[in-house]
Amino acid sequence: MTGENRIAPPLVLDAMLGRLARWLRLMGYDAAYLVDTPDIVVVRVARAEGRLVLTRDRGLAARRAINAVLIRSQALDEQIEQVVAEVGLPPEPVTPRCAVCNVPLVPVEPSAVRDRVPPYVARTQNEFSVCGQCRRVYWPGSHWRHIREKLDGVEG
Ligand SMILES: [Zn+2]
Repeated sequence: MTGENRIAPPLVLDAMLGRLARWLRLMGYDAAYLVDTPDIVVVRVARAEGRLVLTRDRGLAARRAINAVLIRSQALDEQIEQVVAEVGLPPEPVTPRCAVCNVPLVPVEPSAVRDRVPPYVARTQNEFSVCGQCRRVYWPGSHWRHIREKLDGVEG
């Protein structure tokens, strides 16, 4: 270890990695994901936007025209560990992105979203963010703790 952590480049995930894409976005990675998209389009996006391809497909990973990482595991936890270890950490400052839109979330005052979240959440949470594109509201739940533990595990 050099003590200097690598920062991940923008990513594009193949059609088999939708769940991983949503988690990486919440972790702050720029993770494009194209639903039901043939490999040729993944390659085109990777080249046009300078994205690193994450794929479960050996054939796609071996393409010379792109930079790609073959994701070895089918288990989400192991997939995330591989990304953090081999691709790098999310860009600083770490800004969670919408799991659906891949757009950075914007912090908002609790009063702005109290009527748009479940009553229990409104009572117990003070930190909220919204997606400027789909307007979904996010708050730190158990998944944030889970994510933080993963990142700390690697950095530690
Ligand atoms: Zn969104």
